[in-house]
Amino acid sequence: MRRLPVYFVLDVSESMVGSPLRQLESGMEQIVRSLRTDPHALETVYLSVIAFAGKADLIAPLIDVVSFYPPRLPLGSGTALGHALDCLMDCIDRDVIKTTNEKRGDWKPVVFLLTDGKPTDDTASAISRWQNSFSEKAQLVAITLGDQSDTSLLGKLTEHVLQFDGSDNKQFKEFIDWVSNSVTATSHAVEANTGSVSLAKKPAGLTLVKNVPQHSSSVIDESVVVLTGRCQKSERPYLIKYNRSKDNHFANRQFELEGAFGVEENYFVWSAEGTTDQQIGTENLEGFPPCPHCGNHTAFAMCGCGKLLCTNGPGLFQCPWCRKNGEFSVEGGSSDFDVTRGRG
Ligand SMILES: [Zn+2]
Ligand SMILES: [Zn+2]
Repeated sequence: MRRLPVYFVLDVSESMVGSPLRQLESGMEQIVRSLRTDPHALETVYLSVIAFAGKADLIAPLIDVVSFYPPRLPLGSGTALGHALDCLMDCIDRDVIKTTNEKRGDWKPVVFLLTDGKPTDDTASAISRWQNSFSEKAQLVAITLGDQSDTSLLGKLTEHVLQFDGSDNKQFKEFIDWVSNSVTATSHAVEANTGSVSLAKKPAGLTLVKNVPQHSSSVIDESVVVLTGRCQKSERPYLIKYNRSKDNHFANRQFELEGAFGVEENYFVWSAEGTTDQQIGTENLEGFPPCPHCGNHTAFAMCGCGKLLCTNGPGLFQCPWCRKNGEFSVEGGSSDFDVTRGRG
């Protein structure tokens, strides 16, 4: 049986923290459940997952649908698309069985690339490697989540650049159904036609992007601000996520709190060095959450070293980042200050 390798290359940058990451994890489960109900997909489809943030890595090696177990997705700071593409191409080179005179190899692999931001690494060499050696022997579908991605850059990889703007769980489920149906349809079509990927009818919220050049936007145009802190009690890291304010109720407060989310220590492994050096003033932020780990009153206190930690109010503290002792004298802090912010 010739296999149809399907790769998911998933952006797990920190802007995905919270519901987008949970949706993506349950989306992978939904895809597997759906493929298992189709006898043809069950026989031919093989799945693999590559994740990328500041680093890129294979997190689920190519395996048949029955044996595939949706991986827990990591999170990190940065969007290393160039690394992700190189990782993908190395995997294709290694995994996919080539057709020879003696033997018919695998079907042309299909790649679903999902990203929500602009690359933070150099993509030029990976893109030319793709164009020169892979654009003919694999098929890539690029899907941007929201409107912050560089669609003209993605357009260099594929004619299939789609933008998903769905806002709720229902639309996300329909989007995931579309992915499953496209995989199933392709697994049926390969026998008849070794040509292109068969994309299912697009649901609401998913549109084909015409490749118009975008002007690069500055930091202030970004839709999400994510800050990194550590719990003073447990020392575990957390992310505080803000979304750009949709209405202008908050005079000069441009970002509204979504929440604080505990993350694993491997957040730092998946983060690129130097991607957490941007600054944003607290005067731009609306809302300060409690600590997601210990419930301390605020997750938004700052040590003299410039890092965020949680605290229950004024008093002595030991910084979980630099280990120095200090004292918070004013509850909540009375003046605005700058904090170091990550880059998704
Ligand atoms: Zn805490
Ligand atoms: Zn410190």
